[in-house]
Amino acid sequence: MAVERTLSIIKPDAVAKNVVGQILSRFEQAGLSIAAAKMVQLSQADAEGFYAEHKERPFFKDLVSFMISGPVVVQVLEGEGAVLKNRDLMGATNPKEAAAGTIRADFAESIDANAVHGSDSATSAAREIGYFFAETELCQRTR
Ligand code: GDP
Ligand code: MG
Repeated sequence: MAVERTLSIIKPDAVAKNVVGQILSRFEQAGLSIAAAKMVQLSQADAEGFYAEHKERPFFKDLVSFMISGPVVVQVLEGEGAVLKNRDLMGATNPKEAAAGTIRADFAESIDANAVHGSDSATSAAREIGYFFAETELCQRTR
C-alpha cells in the first residue's frame, strides 16, 4: 500500500473534553505519523469554506456553528493507506452506529458533536490539507 497523507480535525467537543492526547495516541498506535499539527479557532468563513461540499445540506448551518464553537486541533496524518486507516479509526459519522473501539464510539456525543473529521478520499485529502497548511509546513515522516 502506498504512503499517503490525510487531514484530521479534532473537533471542539473532543478538545473541550481534553481527549486530544488520547485521540492522537490512537493515530500513532495505528502506525500513522503526524506530519503537521496546529490548534486553531476557526472563523465562520473558515468553516463554511472547509465544508463547502455540504452547503446545500439541511445540517450545514448547525455544522458550521458547531465547528466554530471552540478551538479545534488540525493535523496531517501520514502513513500507509492513511485515508482509509483514519476513517476506520474514526468510525461511522453517527456515533450510535460507530463500531466499538472507534474514536467516535468512545468519545463522540452525537452526530453533530462527533469528535473528529477525516478526509474521505485522496482527492479530498489534497484539498483539505491545502486548506489548512502550506507545503512548507508539512514534514515528511515516512522514508
Ligand atoms: P463524516 O465524513 O463522517 O464527518 O461525515 P459527512 O462528511 O457526511 O458530514 C460532515 C459532518 O456533518 C459530520 O461529521 C457530522 O458532524 C455532520 N453531519 C453529517 N450528516 C448529518 C446529519 O444527518 N445531521 C446532522 N445534524 N449532522 C450531520
Ligand atoms: Mg466527510
